[in-house]
Amino acid sequence: MVSTIFSHCSSSTTARLLPMSRQHGVVYLRRLAVGPLHVGPPSRCSPSTRTLTLHSSTSPSPVLAASMATEASAKVIDGKSVAKQIRDETTAEVCRMKDAIGVIPGLAVILVGDRKDSATYVRNKKKACDSVGINSFEVRLPEDSTEQEVLKFISDFNDDPSVHGILVQLPLPSHMNEQNILNAVSLEKDVDGFHPLNIGRLAMRGREPLFVPCTPKGCIELLHRYGIGIKGKRAVVIGRSNIVGMPAALLLQREDATVSIVHSRTKNPEELTRQADIIISAVGQPNMVRGSWIKPGAVIIDVGINPVEDTQSPRGYRLVGDVCYEEACKIASAITPVPGGVGPMTIAMLLSNTLISAKRIHNFQ
Ligand code: NAP
Repeated sequence: MVSTIFSHCSSSTTARLLPMSRQHGVVYLRRLAVGPLHVGPPSRCSPSTRTLTLHSSTSPSPVLAASMATEASAKVIDGKSVAKQIRDETTAEVCRMKDAIGVIPGLAVILVGDRKDSATYVRNKKKACDSVGINSFEVRLPEDSTEQEVLKFISDFNDDPSVHGILVQLPLPSHMNEQNILNAVSLEKDVDGFHPLNIGRLAMRGREPLFVPCTPKGCIELLHRYGIGIKGKRAVVIGRSNIVGMPAALLLQREDATVSIVHSRTKNPEELTRQADIIISAVGQPNMVRGSWIKPGAVIIDVGINPVEDTQSPRGYRLVGDVCYEEACKIASAITPVPGGVGPMTIAMLLSNTLISAKRIHNFQ
């Protein structure tokens, strides 16, 4: 019965989204939603060792797809362990560079204001840098700082040879012009990859961006490291934000996928998504992508990090993705869990981008 298969993920009725802020895969709850909510115990697909097969793009009916799907069979794409692998590789390369030329990569983070969530992100980035031997530099400015003061620090970091990557923690206070500030970061040190020139190069054939934004880069890295082919595949990216959806679609296209983008005005999201061999979802809606949206054998990269109330959890909430995991893992051939999928990859990619930058600046192979 379709209704029993779909019992875990009725997003509109059982999963209540809690507001949060996030950047680089860390979540911080601002406040809890009120009202009764029943959330069943989370179920997990067990990892399987079967070979990944991407099926042709014929679309089964939702009922057929659901009736075929009775057991968890998807391979779990373990972002946590891939991220650890990348951190270990970064640690080794940082050591090699230090031994060979005496240079240690450095990442500078500028934080303006007193937001607790932003302070948490900055602390996590510092910890991550420490763990791989990258130097971190931090500037904390009060909420009422002027744009000129922030620009002065950016300019100093642009000129500082011990700094190879610069991040301005967003959001900035409302009296500041975010675009002016981000544009001031040197293109060579734009490890977030958000500079318009880097994004522009990503979009153009035959051009190479100096940096690729961390979260979408992490999504593609997962596909690569799991040996999942992209060339010639039909891909659907759900979401078109500047930081995830749009660059993810550009990256897939650069790898010769045929890409469609689904957004909030798309008329037939389910039908379009069901044609995809590869789905990347970055929406921020808990369990929006149901089993009936998924072609059997599709590969799913779920970027969404959505806190939903869970009275059984000591924290009072748990994190779920955009994709209904319990349904998807019975239909897809591979899927990222939430948490433990794309999230850990984002900071790993930031460290990797900082290393790439230092190597490029010092011409170290
Ligand atoms: P965003 O800026 O809010 O963008 C959301 C996108 O989803 C928009 O393009 C929006 O369409 C689209 N959308 C919203 N509702 C939709 C619907 N019902 N149907 C189809 N499309 C819909 O969010 P974001 O910053 O890209 O983040 C998306 C999710 O990824 C969030 O859950 C966030 O927490 C997570 N995230 C995770 C990481 C990580 O490290 N794992 C990093 C960043 C973000 P329109 O453009 O039409 O408005």
